Amino acid sequence: MISAGQRILVTGGAGFLGSHLCEALLKAGHTVVCLDNFSSGHFGNIAALADKPGFSVMEQDVARPVRMEVDQIYNLACPASPLHYQADPLATMRTCIYGASNMLDLANRNEARILQASTSEVYGDPLHHPQRESDWGNVNPNGIRACYDEGKRAAEAFFFDHHRVNDTRIKVARIFNTYGPRMHPDDGRVVSNFIVQALLGEPLTVYGDGSQTRSFCYYTDLIDGLIRLMESDEAITGPINLGNPSEFTIMKLAQMVKSELGNRVRISFELLPTDDPCKRRPDISLAIRELGWRPTVALEQGLKQTIAYFDSVLSKSRSEPWSPACGPLEPGLSRAG
Ligand code: NAD
Ligand code: UDP
Repeated sequence: MISAGQRILVTGGAGFLGSHLCEALLKAGHTVVCLDNFSSGHFGNIAALADKPGFSVMEQDVARPVRMEVDQIYNLACPASPLHYQADPLATMRTCIYGASNMLDLANRNEARILQASTSEVYGDPLHHPQRESDWGNVNPNGIRACYDEGKRAAEAFFFDHHRVNDTRIKVARIFNTYGPRMHPDDGRVVSNFIVQALLGEPLTVYGDGSQTRSFCYYTDLIDGLIRLMESDEAITGPINLGNPSEFTIMKLAQMVKSELGNRVRISFELLPTDDPCKRRPDISLAIRELGWRPTVALEQGLKQTIAYFDSVLSKSRSEPWSPACGPLEPGLSRAG
């Protein structure tokens, strides 16, 4: 185990996963800098950390160079929801590529460890099932998902070339669909969409016939996996799959959300988005072997927690508006020039 008291940079630290990671690292006794441009992240996610000793925030684009002293970097900055990453595909590509490049340069200058939040999207519409790290992927290089899929694949290439050329201390996690509290109600991903729709009494929007599959990991398991990977032996670089291997059709997920909330809402079938992968399930043998990691939270359990979270967010927003996406920083937090 790496001792406490490391200075750690978390890019994308105001997002869904990043904010939980900042919280876990602070609790473990580290000093944490959260770098974020607040494009899909929210100050509300880190508001409870703002006064904690050892925590600071930099409002900055990861695609611009950064200078600081760090021992570890978790590079999470990037919109993860198809809705958000397709809204400005050029920015998504820049974030993936220039962000990775800048963070790798920073890691090299500091001889710091650096972990990349890669994705199951590198497998595209997978040719093998479940997906193993040795699979090369089946990705449309110029479709509407390419800004993200190919951006993340290019970032992986950058990481491994820096490792070969500069001995950079890299760790690459391929994250499969992860959900939980602090996803934004308008995030657009399937779990948050279904829960918010059901709570508002609106139809659940199933894209296509709902036979496509995904494997859903609860955020607590994922954060544990990321930290284990960062703290693993130097020789363990990844790429390594982190996700829950229990696979569900999207229709089954809709039925689970419906039955959790008393079956009041109906399902409306919408067009399947272009290049939507048919199936997705991680083979996690490598994570079990190298990190001693496997998920512990079943989907039923995680859904209950996430429903409770959105229920409270929506109740609050009836009396006060949801905090703005790109709101001003609180007094005392830094804004990079
Ligand atoms: P999120 O959208 O909630 O968080 C992303 C954060 O990055 C946001 O706070 C956003 O403001 C910030 N950001 C985006 N572009 C930036 C830029 N150019 N400069 C600085 N900050 C920027 O998404 P998330 O689910 O928390 O995902 C975090 C990371 O994990 C992403 O890199 C994503 O690709 C990866 N990932 C997530 C999942 C998942 O299911 N949650 C799956 C695979 C990979
Ligand atoms: N999906 C859906 N309804 C929604 C949102 C998504 O049926 O309201 C489907 C989507 O087409 C995909 C799956 O759910 O097949 C997961 O989508 P998400 O955007 O959460 O993640 P990704 O496609 O990146 O895995």
